[in-house]
Amino acid sequence: MKLRFAPSPTGFLHVGGARTAIFNLLHARRYGGTMLLRIEDTDVERSRQHHAEQIITSLKWLGVAWDEGPVYQSDRLDRYRERAEELVAAGKAYRCYCTVEELDAERSAAERAGKQWRYSGRCRKIDGDAGEPHVIRFAVQPGPIEFHDLIRGDVHFEGELIDDFVLLRSDRNPTYHLSVVVDDIDMAITHVARGDDHLSNTPKHVLLFRAFGAAVPSFAHLPLILGGDKKRLSKRTGATSAEEYREMGIVPDALFNFLTLLGWSPGENRELFTAGEATQWFDLADVNKAPAVFDPEKLIWMNGQYLMRMTAEQIYPHLVPFLGDAPRTLDELRTIIELHKMRVRTLRELAKQMAIYFIGDDAIEYDADTVKKHIKGDDLAGRLSALHETLLSTDPFDVVTSEAALRSLAETQGVSAAKLIHPLRLALTGRGASPPIFDVAVVLGKERTLRRLQRLIERLPLIEG
Ligand code: GLU
Repeated sequence: MKLRFAPSPTGFLHVGGARTAIFNLLHARRYGGTMLLRIEDTDVERSRQHHAEQIITSLKWLGVAWDEGPVYQSDRLDRYRERAEELVAAGKAYRCYCTVEELDAERSAAERAGKQWRYSGRCRKIDGDAGEPHVIRFAVQPGPIEFHDLIRGDVHFEGELIDDFVLLRSDRNPTYHLSVVVDDIDMAITHVARGDDHLSNTPKHVLLFRAFGAAVPSFAHLPLILGGDKKRLSKRTGATSAEEYREMGIVPDALFNFLTLLGWSPGENRELFTAGEATQWFDLADVNKAPAVFDPEKLIWMNGQYLMRMTAEQIYPHLVPFLGDAPRTLDELRTIIELHKMRVRTLRELAKQMAIYFIGDDAIEYDADTVKKHIKGDDLAGRLSALHETLLSTDPFDVVTSEAALRSLAETQGVSAAKLIHPLRLALTGRGASPPIFDVAVVLGKERTLRRLQRLIERLPLIEG
């Protein structure tokens, strides 16, 4: 069994393309087959090498580990020309000398008459000069074209309704139909899984497989992916490329898991699973016919679930790009990552929360709502000064000892511990929510904890309500 993912390098890796790649990979792995990566860059107007590189980078990041390739179609142009000429020699394709102007005129005339235009096929009968400008067209024969689709079942088209489509353009470059079929034959592809938008191309491909005397592969046309507005997923409703989700701080395993669920489900309400698990369960034949809806909120939720379950070691390499210019080692960050990973949904949020440990003590900004809520009560300054004194003499400055010290102080002051904890949290983080505050204090260390507390005490007259 051999599958392929065949992106056209005309932009970033779209999440729909990423899902196609994943489904190809999973099916190949499930059945011990191989997966080929083929870059379909014969459209010179729209293809760009940097897009191809970008797509490859995104696939690697996502964990789509193909076995063969990348093969670039632009390296195989002679092969497509050769195969087109073979069909001409066999009388299955022909040279067409009609000019663009002639065809355009015919098309407009048909439109004016309210008819759908189709190429008349008149050049079929002409034995022209191969030195003159021409295209090569496939001579479509009437009759039924049937194929089995693993997802949609038996599909039926009528040859009568299909135009004599172009195989080789006048610049001798192949059309998609020609290059895709030549390659699927040469590369011994057994299963073609691609987007639903290609369904109408498939009868043409079936004709070409037959014309070349090759076995027709199994097809699986994957359902569309819709946005929240139930329209085809597009920029209108949010990010559409794998790269954008990476920049948002989604970890690749979460995106992989999420995309796997677009049109497929392992059953038993399983939602979180590894690629390895999906490999044991996946089958193209189990993919839904109905379009799948892309819910970015669910992806972000899922990412939070992944971060929660990942170790600091696993998170660190993905986090580094979000940390800005100051390089930090895993050892410096380990405890901090462990403390904060439960409270974030993206790497970007994680990096943002972690910033409190790296900014200067004077740079803490106090959240206005938290100030309003917790910076009040009789003699707050006096009570916080006492807390400062207590923490100064806390030794060792660890979580258990410092918490015990604060609690006994609160008792002495006749207030609940919360009355000290909330202002302390504001002093250390500027926020109303954080990991357990004594964990934060210990990471900051005694000196910085005391400086931040002192700074809040000094600012009380300015900020107190
Ligand atoms: N290159 C085509 C695309 O990007 C896919 C062709 C195929 O899978 O057959 O849409």
